[in-house]
Amino acid sequence: MLTDDPSRVAAWLQYFADLGISSTYRDRRPGLVSARETLKATLRGDFPGPQSGTALASDEVLRNPIAAASPPPVTTIPVARFASPRSPASPSPTLFEAADHIEDDTFEKIRETIGDCRRCRLHEHRTNIVFGVGSPKAQLVFIGEGPGRDEDFQGEPFVGRAGKLLTQMIEAMSLQRGDVYIANVVKCRPPENRLPEKDEIATCSPFLLRQIEVIKPKVICCLGACSAQTLLQTAQGILKYRGEWLDFRGTKLMATYHPAYLLRNPAAKGEVC
Ligand code: URA
Repeated sequence: MLTDDPSRVAAWLQYFADLGISSTYRDRRPGLVSARETLKATLRGDFPGPQSGTALASDEVLRNPIAAASPPPVTTIPVARFASPRSPASPSPTLFEAADHIEDDTFEKIRETIGDCRRCRLHEHRTNIVFGVGSPKAQLVFIGEGPGRDEDFQGEPFVGRAGKLLTQMIEAMSLQRGDVYIANVVKCRPPENRLPEKDEIATCSPFLLRQIEVIKPKVICCLGACSAQTLLQTAQGILKYRGEWLDFRGTKLMATYHPAYLLRNPAAKGEVC
């Protein structure tokens, strides 16, 4: 999947230019490697990533664990596992709990279970359920918060302006959209693009968890605080752990800025890893 194809390299350079990065990726000092290179190495299996339950510290530039004599410093943040308390009204396992125990799950089964979903108020104004798009065998999964207007209309995540920036990010990694998987915490558009509310997330995100379980990616990239906080089950702001390798049920997870935030705050583009 990784390539030296000059057009891909050009896409990388265009992406860096769009992000306003001019020096970080040119840093050729021995022993230093960009977080993006680390991600690529991780996908190739060259870099073991964090041990379960820990988070590797990272900055704009990580010390290359292959070249460096000592491993990078390790920090941990509390990362709660998915386990929502059972409601007294429902003696059966909650969807969160059940998500752990579905044998031979498939996208088809998940989609069938979702059906013409009316489990939360988000169904009221939706045009389409936005299930997710990409390869069911993807090594890399991107997770946003919820569909916007374009996504609701087309039934596909990240197809609007933010989606175009995400596509550039993906292509800058020498990948295509079809190589990765893209989904959201909630599958119906929140009105006026507001943040999904807690009960909406609790209702919908178990389907996302099942999708992740089916895909079994090597790396999950959370786009923005909503998806990071949902998967990590933390209330901590994204700035506390953005750009660090975290663990999600044995899968490496990194949170970064949401592309829509980058469109609103171009100055932050240079901080994206
Ligand atoms: N923002 C998101 O979080 N998801 C989308 O699909 C589109 C915009």
